[in-house]
Amino acid sequence: MALIDCPACGKKISDKAATCQHCNFAIGQANPDDLARKNALNLYLKKQKIQNQSMLAMLLFVGGFGFMYWGGVTSEDIQFKLAFGVSVVGFVWYIVNRVRLVFLKKSS
Ligand SMILES: [Zn+2]
Repeated sequence: MALIDCPACGKKISDKAATCQHCNFAIGQANPDDLARKNALNLYLKKQKIQNQSMLAMLLFVGGFGFMYWGGVTSEDIQFKLAFGVSVVGFVWYIVNRVRLVFLKKSS
């Protein structure tokens, strides 16, 4: 018994299963073309989601950074520390998303 990715929800299922145990997608009734299309769509949606998150992360980073420099606050202010935290989170999140995109491209 081998495990394959469900074309509908992407979870691991048995290749012998007629329907996905997670989302009830009828695998037996789908032809290879449908499966390929569905896979491509899933990949596209996943990529879109990660790219959206990258954008948001970038905004956090730039926003936090900008506030630190042009917000009229000193490094003693809680706002400064908050902005610093936000930009660090944004930066790390951005890197994580870039790595996820690379892995997504590798796996496809
Ligand atoms: Zn499924």
